Amino acid sequence: MPDMEIKNMVKLFTVLLLSEKEQYGYEIMKEIKKRTGKNVSPGQIYPFLRQLESYNYVEARGRKERDKQAYYLTPEGRRFVKRLSGRFGTIFEIAIKARLTVCAHCGCEIYKGGYKEMINGKSINFCCKNCAKGYMRMDLG
Ligand SMILES: [Zn+2]
Repeated sequence: MPDMEIKNMVKLFTVLLLSEKEQYGYEIMKEIKKRTGKNVSPGQIYPFLRQLESYNYVEARGRKERDKQAYYLTPEGRRFVKRLSGRFGTIFEIAIKARLTVCAHCGCEIYKGGYKEMINGKSINFCCKNCAKGYMRMDLG
């Protein structure tokens, strides 16, 4: 059977999250929202999970109710993700990093707190005040 086509970020994220650990459908929705800021509907997740099942990429355990089933990758699913990550290497990295904020000036990763500055009507993240100053100087210069 040829590889399933992964044509959008929601699908890519779903597969990526499953490769990290077993997930419930609603956990996948919540995690995509957290990492991308986008709302995902059950209609985008559950039919895709069923499709993955039909390819034998995932199996579900738990009661036969949508919210009670945890999905996990099969060995075939893991091989599929490996092929995918070869093809989408950069996107995979971005997806993982999406949960981190990066300082707009020095590029360091901000896990907590940091410093926000409104520039041209946009709230921009920095690790500290000095980076915000440096960034604004750059902008003017
Ligand atoms: Zn910085």
